[in-house]
Amino acid sequence: MEMLKVECLRCGDTRDVSARSDDHVDAGECERCEYVGWALVADLTEKIRRVLRERPPERRRLYAA
Ligand SMILES: [Zn+2]
Repeated sequence: MEMLKVECLRCGDTRDVSARSDDHVDAGECERCEYVGWALVADLTEKIRRVLRERPPERRRLYAA
């Protein structure tokens, strides 16, 4: 079974989960912050890179908060 690395959208913790479908991963609660929102690390890094590139540096801290 294919394993995907996902990242918690709140605290950034990562874990490996098995792929259930193309667009859905179920990683449950984050062990660190109990948040349940996850994004694929590969997907996320690409999006974040684009966002950071298009944003002025002073706004980065808003994104991280
Ligand atoms: Zn978390």
